[in-house]
Amino acid sequence: MMESSPSHLSGGGGDSGPPSGEFSGGAGEHHGALFLVLGYLQLPELLCAQRACRSFRDAVAGDSLLWRDVRVEPPLSGKLTDDGLLEVTSRSGGRLRSLTLVDCWRVTDSALRRVVDENPDIVKINVPGCTRLTADGVVGLVTSLAEQQQKKKNKKEKRENKDKEEEKRSLLVQLGVYGIPHLGKDHLNVLRSLLPPPVDGATGGGAEGHAIDVDVCPRCDAVRIVLDCTRERCRTASVGRAACRGCGFCIVRCEECGGCVEGAGEESACSHTLCLSCWLRLPKCSLCNRPFCSGHRRPPPANLPSSNFTCDQCSDPLSSLDFTL
Ligand SMILES: [Zn+2]
Ligand SMILES: [Zn+2]
Ligand SMILES: [Zn+2]
Ligand SMILES: [Zn+2]
Ligand SMILES: [Zn+2]
Repeated sequence: MMESSPSHLSGGGGDSGPPSGEFSGGAGEHHGALFLVLGYLQLPELLCAQRACRSFRDAVAGDSLLWRDVRVEPPLSGKLTDDGLLEVTSRSGGRLRSLTLVDCWRVTDSALRRVVDENPDIVKINVPGCTRLTADGVVGLVTSLAEQQQKKKNKKEKRENKDKEEEKRSLLVQLGVYGIPHLGKDHLNVLRSLLPPPVDGATGGGAEGHAIDVDVCPRCDAVRIVLDCTRERCRTASVGRAACRGCGFCIVRCEECGGCVEGAGEESACSHTLCLSCWLRLPKCSLCNRPFCSGHRRPPPANLPSSNFTCDQCSDPLSSLDFTL
């Protein structure tokens, strides 16, 4: 039996209650520098940190600055309920600055509306793929934000602009709503009228320069993310610009450079489409001769040059048999 040191050093085994916060060597408190780390943690890490011990839990829950930018993405998305959302956002003490919910399919309009009502200074709302939200609900909450903003403004400038009826706009600089069901042109028009005007240089149509992420696709007329071509020749020639502007369903684009692709394009090892010039430039799998897009390539083993690699499918051919039984 070795009993050379106090056995309360190990605190983090299970979640059966905090171990009294005394694992920093007898002083009963953590080194102050540990708490500085909290400001750099993302939501999942913060949630883990607060389960470490009582003093961490208090530090995490008591610091409203840690909760001003809330971002929930998979794999947490499916677990986020309305109550969870309200609890997480309430920790900012009404000073929530940005809220990003990716694919949080349980969250409803009423919860999001409550969050916005309790945090009127919010400037970024991104809710892509939150399929339980409705287009009417989103319009309602942006309207509510704009009204609150107008009230605040009127209070400030009461004397000067008493008779002036200004158009109401919210302070949202970013609104991400792609994937919300049944979002139509009418909704888009109302949302645009409530958001800050486009930045200089942005034209009437197009998501570029606008606070909202979606636009009406000139080809299929649906409200989707619509991209302009990145190719210089397409951007400068007015005919070309109109010809290859469209949503991802209508225009095939190179995953690497974002330019329009003629025909079916070239195949990558990560199942994306590439244009010929990007395909030629990228390093390729030594067996199947297909490249990875830059963003999807895993670093090769240290003993091999970066241009010498084997893609997942070639290194494990059985992995591709799943769908061919
Ligand atoms: Zn389209
Ligand atoms: Zn390309
Ligand atoms: Zn183009
Ligand atoms: Zn390969
Ligand atoms: Zn890729």
